[in-house]
Amino acid sequence: MKNKALIVGGGMVGAACAVKLAKQGCEVTLIETSPIDAEQILQSEQVDIRVSAINRFSELLLEELGAMSSLKSARNAQYRQLEAYEDKPGQLIFDCDEVNSTHLGHIIENNLIQAALWRQFAELKIQVKSPQGQPISLTQDDEGVTLLYQQDEFNADLLIAADGGRSQIRQLARIGVTGWQYDQHCMGILIKLDAPQQHKTWQQFTPNGPIAFLPMQYPYANLIWYDEGSKLKQLSGLSHATLKQKIIETFFELPGDFDVEQVAVFPLARQHANQYVANRVVLVGDAAHTINPLAGQGVNLGFKDVAALSDVLNNADDIGSLSLLRKYEKKRRTDNLLMMSMMDACYFGFSNSVGPLKALRNIALNVANKAGPLKREVLKHAMGGIS
Ligand SMILES: Cc1cc2nc3c(=O)[nH]c(=O)nc-3n(C[C@H](O)[C@H](O)[C@H](O)COP(=O)(O)OP(=O)(O)OC[C@H]3O[C@@H](n4cnc5c(N)ncnc54)[C@H](O)[C@@H]3O)c2cc1C
Repeated sequence: MKNKALIVGGGMVGAACAVKLAKQGCEVTLIETSPIDAEQILQSEQVDIRVSAINRFSELLLEELGAMSSLKSARNAQYRQLEAYEDKPGQLIFDCDEVNSTHLGHIIENNLIQAALWRQFAELKIQVKSPQGQPISLTQDDEGVTLLYQQDEFNADLLIAADGGRSQIRQLARIGVTGWQYDQHCMGILIKLDAPQQHKTWQQFTPNGPIAFLPMQYPYANLIWYDEGSKLKQLSGLSHATLKQKIIETFFELPGDFDVEQVAVFPLARQHANQYVANRVVLVGDAAHTINPLAGQGVNLGFKDVAALSDVLNNADDIGSLSLLRKYEKKRRTDNLLMMSMMDACYFGFSNSVGPLKALRNIALNVANKAGPLKREVLKHAMGGIS
């Protein structure tokens, strides 16, 4: 039985893949350039500015992987309502009651999700390695795959690239990408909020780009502000007190007074690997697809990759079998492409203030709010196909 998996990249997606495959009986080695101390992160009071809206599908996967209990005793916030509007609040509201669920998802810090997964590694005998330097060559044949570093060599039956948008493994496997940089950048702002625990996440579309509110565990929240890179760079350089005034002028719907704690600006890119598989190499997560974070789907798609890949590999005689890997690719590439195209439709459709288009958008939002069955379908999709 050939079941040695080598995973490069131990971010949220790579770590989830490692835990899932180890639970299925694979022998897993994970290479990570920046290994973490999971216990220290899970116990730290330090709040991280990078957060993800985790949908119900991802929540169930994290539950199955034993990570959700760690996250519940660290920090997380359930959201029950999701609102989208252009002119005035209330134009389109999704509520968990509409799909008979207690919540729609969770807002959780990325490093907590990663740490909650890493916490499982020792028990599952997942080996973590941090070889010196970058990988220099990749060779593969019917028997297996070999990844070579200056001083180390790793052999496996399957090499899983989970090393993010700039994946080196993808390059070594000679897999090309198609994509572009968006004009807009996005600024994340961590605030400490003087208001009770919030349960609604909302997004307002403005001609410069969307702004969004993500409730974290009391007393924190994350604000997302899309605009031109130069403008956001200038805003992020302001004192926290001056930035607060700019936020008040822009984010009308904030539920209380607040202090700015941290600010970070991210460039936005769309990138899709031309194929997910090259013999015994397979891509997952951002190594395969980087999506506009407009609707907070990036890591949720990555977790769906993990579920689909582990599904086809379960009980396989050879986890590097090309026909199995192609099944994974077929399933995930179409789904990821669809989500990317939907995000682009929103991005390009809403990033302008042309009169008739604006009127049409407002009608569409109001109609969608009243379109019972259709609205429920959209909501189920946003929850990862689960309610
Ligand atoms: C502003 C913003 C907001 C977002 N909000 C959301 C959201 O609300 N919901 C959501 O689902 N998604 C969101 N996303 C997307 C989400 O953050 C990404 O999809 C997710 O982080 C991808 O995880 P990953 O594990 O695939 O890659 P990464 O997070 O990039 O992890 C890659 C890992 O590989 C390691 N690595 C890299 N190169 C090597 C190497 N050569 N050798 C060994 N290790 C290596 C890195 O150290 C890292 O640990 C957002 C993204 C942005 C920019």
